Amino acid sequence: MPHLRSARFQVHQNLVGSLPAPSRTSLPERPAFQRALLRWYETHQRSLPWRKNGNPYRILVSEFMLQQTRVETVIPYYERFLKRFPSLRDLAKAPLQEVLKAWAGLGYYARARNLHEAAKAIVREWGGKIPRTKEELLLLPGFGPYTAGAVASLAFHQPVPALDGNAKRVLGRLFPEQCDFSRMSAKKQADEFLAGWIPPRRAADFNQALMDLGAMVCIPSSPRCTACPVFRFCATKGKIPKKKRVVRKVREEIWAVALVEKDGKFLLHRKEGRGLLSGLWQFPSVAVEKNQGKRGNSQDPGKLLEKYLREDFGLETRIKTSLPEQEHLFTHIHALMKPYLGSLAGTRPSFPNSGSLRWVGASAFSRYPISTAMCKIAALVGS
Ligand code: SF4
Repeated sequence: MPHLRSARFQVHQNLVGSLPAPSRTSLPERPAFQRALLRWYETHQRSLPWRKNGNPYRILVSEFMLQQTRVETVIPYYERFLKRFPSLRDLAKAPLQEVLKAWAGLGYYARARNLHEAAKAIVREWGGKIPRTKEELLLLPGFGPYTAGAVASLAFHQPVPALDGNAKRVLGRLFPEQCDFSRMSAKKQADEFLAGWIPPRRAADFNQALMDLGAMVCIPSSPRCTACPVFRFCATKGKIPKKKRVVRKVREEIWAVALVEKDGKFLLHRKEGRGLLSGLWQFPSVAVEKNQGKRGNSQDPGKLLEKYLREDFGLETRIKTSLPEQEHLFTHIHALMKPYLGSLAGTRPSFPNSGSLRWVGASAFSRYPISTAMCKIAALVGS
């Protein structure tokens, strides 16, 4: 029955895909693994807003937002962002300030700038159509191997890996030899190995199934192996070596922040460059060294602010009342913010509103992209 054999062979090929020779070692198990994982996914998959209709733009936005941020945190920002920029062209033609405003609070603002740059490049160079392959996507601003693989597979069903933190953990436990992500050199080896396991017609489901398995079953400290659909394929079966807890180094900083008031409005400026909070609007602030002088000393925070405002903004000011201190934790910085109320002094004229400097009433703060840290300061004067 030659036709039956060739049909079976075709089904097998569709499931298994074309593989590099060295990773064919456990070939007979692959379809069984794929079936077990996909069957589980069909009934247990997470309901996430960007998965609803497979729209490539929506998937693109979600992948940028999910970089280094948890799903639960992303969802409300994602929904608001999509309301504000419903299409890729809407995003591409918006000013960066509008994009940062919609992103405010989500942190890691370089992602918003990259997403905006990518949208503009797609309109300019691809006629508004998001490229479909990982290689093409890698040419766009802000796309690394994970984001390119995720968009290519989830939006366009390309059989390429999309290894987020959850998927890496699952694979590292299932196939510790082939997917040892603790070694830098293992990344390429793991990608090649996994490429052979992705069913070409169900690449999106397969990649999302690995992510969901990591999020719901193969969780970091105590995997729920009894509920695992691929338990029988797993090399570790939950016997994972205790990892040393990696303590993230957080730098302590003290910032003096000036709330300079003129006619009921406060001075805001937009931070230029590419560092922390660049592109966002903030109250003028300077870093204060720990244990720096006492009040009245030339190094006290109020004096430092007056000097900074004179030298950088050409403003003579009188920094007066201190307001309650505020704290904010960035990824690597714990900032203790010491806010001060101030007013203009002397006879020098104050500057007009300009591209990066504004006098803004408290009721209008919400129209500006202001970081969560600075929102805490804004709240002190009634925003
Ligand atoms: S058997 Fe346990 S350790 Fe292995 S993949 Fe499943 S949940 Fe993870």
